[in-house]
Amino acid sequence: MTATNGERLYDVIVVGAGFGGLYAIHRLRGDGLSVLCLEASDDIGGVWHHNRYPGARCDVESLDYSYSFSPELQQEWSWTERYAAQPEILAYLHHVADRFDLRRDIRLDTRVIATTRDDEAGEWSVVTAAGESFRARFLILATGALSSPKSPDLAGLENFTGAVYRTSSWPAEPVDFAGKTVGVLGTGSTGVQCIPEIAAEAERLFVFQRTPSYTLPSGNRPLDGATVAAVKSRYEDYRAELRQSRAGIPAPTSGEPGTDYSREEKRARWDACWQAGRGMPSHFVDSMKPGPTNDELCDYLRDKIRAVVIDPATAEALCPKTYPFGARRICLETGYLEAYNRANVTLVDLSANAFEHFTSSGMRAGGRDYPLDAVVLAIGFDAFTGPVVRIDIRNGRGERLAECWAEGPRTYMGFMTAGFPNLFILTGPGSPSVLTNVVMMLEHDVDWVADCIAWLDQHGISSIEADESAQTEWMEHVAELAAGTLYAKHNSWYMGSNIPGKRRMFLAYTGGYAGFAAAAAEVAADRYRGFMVR
Ligand code: NAP
Repeated sequence: MTATNGERLYDVIVVGAGFGGLYAIHRLRGDGLSVLCLEASDDIGGVWHHNRYPGARCDVESLDYSYSFSPELQQEWSWTERYAAQPEILAYLHHVADRFDLRRDIRLDTRVIATTRDDEAGEWSVVTAAGESFRARFLILATGALSSPKSPDLAGLENFTGAVYRTSSWPAEPVDFAGKTVGVLGTGSTGVQCIPEIAAEAERLFVFQRTPSYTLPSGNRPLDGATVAAVKSRYEDYRAELRQSRAGIPAPTSGEPGTDYSREEKRARWDACWQAGRGMPSHFVDSMKPGPTNDELCDYLRDKIRAVVIDPATAEALCPKTYPFGARRICLETGYLEAYNRANVTLVDLSANAFEHFTSSGMRAGGRDYPLDAVVLAIGFDAFTGPVVRIDIRNGRGERLAECWAEGPRTYMGFMTAGFPNLFILTGPGSPSVLTNVVMMLEHDVDWVADCIAWLDQHGISSIEADESAQTEWMEHVAELAAGTLYAKHNSWYMGSNIPGKRRMFLAYTGGYAGFAAAAAEVAADRYRGFMVR
């Protein structure tokens, strides 16, 4: 097809070649559509390409955190560990790209910087950093929720003459910390993973902690043949069961509230979860809700820190006290707490010794200088909205999406935002997204979008967009559900509160995968109720 300006007109342009983008190419191509995937990086893999820091690993089990769209792929690929490390996940994505011949529709080193909708032609015009332009009837942002790194708001960093590494764009070549004094900033999921690895290599490690995390032992281990065979023998059924769950991951539960049990009985159950590396948040049905069981679980986890970390002052500083378990992302760890028992590791509590600035040779905090050879920034992401608004997206009336979202993102079910026809977002704000097994969620969203495009084409409809009132209703529903959770009462990247100036609101749908998927299917079956078509 030819666009109105004489360029080639694609049916669909997909932005991003991570888990979502790769499956989108496969599915849409299978539907007979022409697809072009534009990827900013020099290779495929999305966050798994960039976040190659030491210790990077998924915290969803590998048998779950993998594609289900191809039974053959499911059978032929064998994960080696319960929680796959970054190199293995990246190798998997490369295997998928090769196996399904996806690379021929991907342009690497092609950063999309702007896109404008031509309403009359019914085309999106996409402009890249190199000044190229491409046109398509539909645009799909497969740009991820946690792919736009938070900018380092650290005074004096530009004066620091040592090496600066960001976990979110770790160098491809090995980094050698042997003999070096290293400082790590950030103790979220990323910091918790890289700190034990760097501690084992560096001569000296200072961990600069602003807010401690609740951590649980991952219980990672090599996957034995029997476990893999048991899942593979019924993979379709197993996936179907996960699709009926809240988060798309197994969540073993007693089905009972903790309030039915004494403190000692609860602790005995939690000890079993701790040993197994499984089930702590889900064992009691009220563990993740405000109330006595959650309070007791917080006490239990703080006692675990005190039991593992030998130095009492360090242990106390590592104990989260300003927010409850479940209000922020729970971090799975391997050797994290034990790392603080090493003689070469020092925890610097920035909440008591405030960060002042970087100097040419290190960092100053709490009136003290910390000489450093290298600093590792594990300071997080501008979640959900960052990857979308960093592209200059304009609709046919010249309105900028970033401005439409200035008071917070607005979508109908995460898929589309009103006023921007034929622009789809995968795992967008207002969808369950990061609260689920994201690979399962991405497959769902790709299938929903592909089914929608097929339906439009079958009915000779050229344009679809979210209806403003359906969108308002949806966002109110998202906010209402979130208001009853622990998340809404505390600061975290889920709330946008890690980014200065960002509107504070809960950015995901907390109603769970199964309920969301059922609602999305119902909307589609009802001729895309809540969307306007032309
Ligand atoms: P994060 O959870 O936002 O943690 C960032 C850390 O950096 C926090 O401890 C934060 O402290 C600190 N920080 C930020 N700015 C700072 C500053 N200016 N000075 C000092 N400290 C600063 O980010 P993340 O660890 O990269 O994780 C983000 C999400 O990515 C995770 O929650 C998870 O969903 C995903 N992830 C998953 C995995 C996995 O699968 N295992 C691994 C990594 C990441 P404050 O809390 O005080 O702001």
